Amino acid sequence: MFRSAIGTLCFLTLLPVIAIQQNAPALGQQQAASAPFIAPDKIFGYRNPAAELQAEKIFLAVPDPKLARQHLQILTAAPHVAGSPEDRRTAEYVLQQYTAAGLDASIQPYKVWMALPLDIRVDVVAPAGVVMHGPSPEHVNDDMFQKDPRILPAFNEYSPSGDVTADVVYANYGRAEDFKKLQEMGVDVRGKIVIVRYGEIFRGVKVFLAAQHGAAAVILYSDPWDDGYYKGDKYPKGPWRPDTGVQRGSVQYLFRYPGDPTTPDIASVPDLPDSKRIAPEQATNLPKIPVTPLSYGDATPIMANLGGPESPRTWQGALPFTYHVGPGPVRVHMALKQSFRFTTIWDVIGIVRGTQLPNEWVVTGNHRDAWVYGAVDPSSGTAAQLEAVHGIGELLKAGWRPKRTLVFASWDAEEEGLIGSTEYAEQHAKDLSRAVAYFNMDVAVSGPDFGAAAVPSLKQYLRDVAKSVPSPKGGSVYDQWKATSGESEKNARNSTETLMTPSPSRPAAAGSADTPVGDLGGGSDYTPFLQHLGVPSANIGSKGPYGVYHSAFDNFAWFTKFGDPTFAYEQQMARICGLEAMRMASTDVLPLNYEDYGKEIAEYLKVAEQRAKVAFGEQAPSFADATKATQRLQQAGADLMKLQGKSIGDPGAMNFVLRNAERAFLGDGLPDRPWFKHVIYAPGEHTGYAAAVIPGVNEAIENNNLTLTKQQLQILTGALNKAAGALELAR
Ligand SMILES: [Zn+2]
Repeated sequence: MFRSAIGTLCFLTLLPVIAIQQNAPALGQQQAASAPFIAPDKIFGYRNPAAELQAEKIFLAVPDPKLARQHLQILTAAPHVAGSPEDRRTAEYVLQQYTAAGLDASIQPYKVWMALPLDIRVDVVAPAGVVMHGPSPEHVNDDMFQKDPRILPAFNEYSPSGDVTADVVYANYGRAEDFKKLQEMGVDVRGKIVIVRYGEIFRGVKVFLAAQHGAAAVILYSDPWDDGYYKGDKYPKGPWRPDTGVQRGSVQYLFRYPGDPTTPDIASVPDLPDSKRIAPEQATNLPKIPVTPLSYGDATPIMANLGGPESPRTWQGALPFTYHVGPGPVRVHMALKQSFRFTTIWDVIGIVRGTQLPNEWVVTGNHRDAWVYGAVDPSSGTAAQLEAVHGIGELLKAGWRPKRTLVFASWDAEEEGLIGSTEYAEQHAKDLSRAVAYFNMDVAVSGPDFGAAAVPSLKQYLRDVAKSVPSPKGGSVYDQWKATSGESEKNARNSTETLMTPSPSRPAAAGSADTPVGDLGGGSDYTPFLQHLGVPSANIGSKGPYGVYHSAFDNFAWFTKFGDPTFAYEQQMARICGLEAMRMASTDVLPLNYEDYGKEIAEYLKVAEQRAKVAFGEQAPSFADATKATQRLQQAGADLMKLQGKSIGDPGAMNFVLRNAERAFLGDGLPDRPWFKHVIYAPGEHTGYAAAVIPGVNEAIENNNLTLTKQQLQILTGALNKAAGALELAR
């Protein structure tokens, strides 16, 4: 039954595959019109790929646009914030789908500390004549979903309750440099309500910095410059944010630790005794000043009435007047009542036990909870994952079994602070110490441009997987990815979620001149797997113009009009998602590339060394030892790559050292935030989503702390040598 490359082509365009033809005629037509798709007939890490190639062909034929549409419609039928009865119903739906596919599936509950908004008020109280009573309900002229009484008012999760009346100051994006600029301008934010626009950095970091500078409260608003009419037509005419659209979202300090605030390091299983929890007041990942979001409709009267100096011109957004920074004369009364309590959330876990290496897990995860309907975020991911599971199910029926164990996960309460994934990872830390990879998918589809982020060892693997999946635009996903990688970076930044893209300030894919794969920041469920447990991780998504993030308008109507009308990209993402898991699960030799890892770390070190010279001048510490250790890692990786790609050497021995190499990057934890153990990647304390690379060293430099910089360099050098030493064992 093994087919040649030509056979593969026929299989994908002509065969059973009936599903593809019936349900996505556009796919077939477009493929015929442009570059042909030819699946590669070799797979790195497989010594004899015939059986795997055959299984992949069967798998790729299954994911069905019509069924993905059906999943999405069911998952987005009602608002389903974590812990709600509607969220429970989505858990049961996923359980049913996992079980139908033949997975050993169950619901895993956790009891976690969360809040819901009881009463949220933001009123302008001065100057006289300026009237605004918010937050206004989200409303446009033509949307059938906006009136549901279960839609929560706009709020920020984990803001404390509070009652503040104060003058307002505008602080641009609320970044460290923005607060510094205000200081230079002589504008004091102490005791003020700071209004900042969404974008550039994680919202929790904005609140953290505002609090550090003495602000009494924070208003976060969506400026039309960043994801509204300045980008293009607003919803429902176009995909961008309308005047009343609000971005909800958590302001947990997840750069300290994510998950249940009362259980860092341990799992919030339902019967966990209270004595094992810390009091919420003691939790260091919760903000202490009130914060709430506004639409630009509600923010306009505030912004328009600020006095004081003109804002720096780069702070000007797209509202039709000149922005000033204040303070005052506009004065706001913020009264927030939040109801904090322990809430039960539900992960759904589905397992296919491996035949040969059952203790080595390949975990694939996506969250299921949403702020409102969550059509794009996250249901596009859930629908795609369910079609991937559907494909695995068809393989199981045909008698196929993976060598390693496949774990599929539907996380809950990601939006509140990566809670479902963090509690699961903490509970299964021991099992996961042998996991070979974690594959995340959050937003699977907001448009047609594929993008990915990963640890450097997995970047080439992702490119290879993308070469084996056809694109709705013709050719492979990889071909289209390569052609549009610049575009997708732009779009992702537009959509205020920067987690998928290579950071403009850092060289991505320094290891090769190939299509850039980004670095992993701290914005989604891969965080506990990579940054706490050292499981090699990746994140994938297909992006486009998307201005309804975390609003009531991220619903089925928006998705079918703008996101993916034919569900062809849902099918594509289901195929990528399933393929990356099944290929990793049955590989002879793990396709982890530590030569690439070494090359990227070398780039990070060069940048850090320059920064250290600027910060410390003559006294700057030597990077020679760390650089030498990186070269050693790169060399050990290159030597091993030669064996990995050939049919020589013992795969078991190679896999052992490859699995251990990533764990060698785990240390005792970063200064002030010991939950984060990984010495190469952590969410930045001052940047949030953007990956902070070699965070211990970089943050010590940022804080002008020479002693700490030296100490962190030593820790890094030790970890690099440990990883290199692990790899050298395979020689
Ligand atoms: Zn999400």
